Amino acid sequence: MDNTQEYTEEISAFMAGLRKRNPHEPEFHQAVEEIVSSLIPYIKDHPKYSAAQILERMTEPDRIVIFRVTWQTDDGQIRANRGWRVQFNNSIGPYKGGLRFHPTVNQSVLKFLGFEQIFKNSLTGLPMGGAKGGSNFNPKGKSDAEVMRFCQSFMTELSRHIGEDTDIPAGDIGVGAREISYMFGQYKRMQNRFVGTITGKGLEFGGSLGRKEATGYGCVYFLDNMLRHHGHDLAGKKVVVSGSGNVAIYAIQKCLALGAQVLTASDSSGYIYDPNGIDYDKLEYLKQLKEVQRGRIHEYAEKYPEARFFEGERPWSVAADIALPCATQNELDVEAARQLVNNGVIAVAEGANMPTTPEAYHLFAENDVLFAPGKAANAGGVAVSGLEQSQNSLRISWSKGEVDSKLQSIMHNIHQQCVEYGSGGAIVDYSKGANIAGFVKVADAMLAYGAV
Ligand code: NDP
Repeated sequence: MDNTQEYTEEISAFMAGLRKRNPHEPEFHQAVEEIVSSLIPYIKDHPKYSAAQILERMTEPDRIVIFRVTWQTDDGQIRANRGWRVQFNNSIGPYKGGLRFHPTVNQSVLKFLGFEQIFKNSLTGLPMGGAKGGSNFNPKGKSDAEVMRFCQSFMTELSRHIGEDTDIPAGDIGVGAREISYMFGQYKRMQNRFVGTITGKGLEFGGSLGRKEATGYGCVYFLDNMLRHHGHDLAGKKVVVSGSGNVAIYAIQKCLALGAQVLTASDSSGYIYDPNGIDYDKLEYLKQLKEVQRGRIHEYAEKYPEARFFEGERPWSVAADIALPCATQNELDVEAARQLVNNGVIAVAEGANMPTTPEAYHLFAENDVLFAPGKAANAGGVAVSGLEQSQNSLRISWSKGEVDSKLQSIMHNIHQQCVEYGSGGAIVDYSKGANIAGFVKVADAMLAYGAV
């Protein structure tokens, strides 16, 4: 009997209370259950945390700010969206976490993301608390001017709640270089101060070299550490990737650099399978298509006829050694996991946040598939955001090489922490390792503060 089974009743009781206090928030419940399943057994052996009600306190955000965002379309119509900032926990540093603009954004999604961010930020070793925010605004199909008016209106309210020592937002789904620039411009105008209150900025105005690559590269660095720790490496491996956004593109790039062959990419309309692999030239085309032209993934298959487009499907049926889900939450379910396992997958690394459903995760665990959870594997993005903050405060810029070597060492350290707390079975339990390692630092800070 493993630890989790022994504590099933306590986990269920904790989750029943959490569900009651937070009804209609399934994504938040899912994220908390995943984490407390490792933490409750650990806390049993460390009763100082339960005596201080650390888990109950940690699952309650410090505050949630909700606001209306009114903006005008190009033809003069008034639109109103909803904006949020979930400031979850600032025990080890100012709040830090991305902003997501997507029609599926709601309080549950942002609470799950903000909660996970606490652990992820702690794992980086940098002084950053956990937060997340965003809006149900859909930038797709909007003109640049409409996106600008929305971003300015969003920042007009958000600016009251953030600051370089308080809360430092960044990008996420639907919030890339364009949106960050509009929001930073508005913040600077309103405050009449040029400070690093947002990360992911353009290189001309305080951004860090290596930031846009950081999440995807970091994910593959973590994967590389995980494979090597278990006697494998990336060279010659076949990889399936979902997504074609910021994380996916740079994950693909680093896979190529380390000698792997990447067979797929996707967006919300479907996926492309390229049996010859996505090489550097094709990746350059993909970058232009998604980052500049804001095109759709089927255009790849039109440009490269050897590739096929599968409308409305996800790439997990393609046989591969490694899977990198890099699009969105719950995109890899148990049927997909079964296909991957039947096809002999050896490792899964989450570029996205919570892309694997709990049932799929359990199937991987039962089959000894190496599994890197997002809070560890995709922490490279927030880590380099932290480095951007440091450079802003010091008023210096590090070279791309300096940033990349810091990123590599941060991902190596995260891997080591997971090994420290997750060893004991046939393979390292990276989820347990990441959950406990991320927890301890934040929990100890909360204990030190007393009842706050
Ligand atoms: P982008 O907006 O750049 O790209 C998102 C990609 O995922 C697009 O290809 C998009 O397709 C696809 N996608 C989004 N929603 C869905 C959906 N519901 N179903 C299928 N495909 C979907 O976002 P990022 O690459 O920045 O983020 C991807 C994931 O990585 C998210 O989970 C994010 O939270 C996580 N992450 C990002 C970090 C970063 O630094 N950017 C840091 C850490 C984690 P389409 O264009 O059709 O919408």
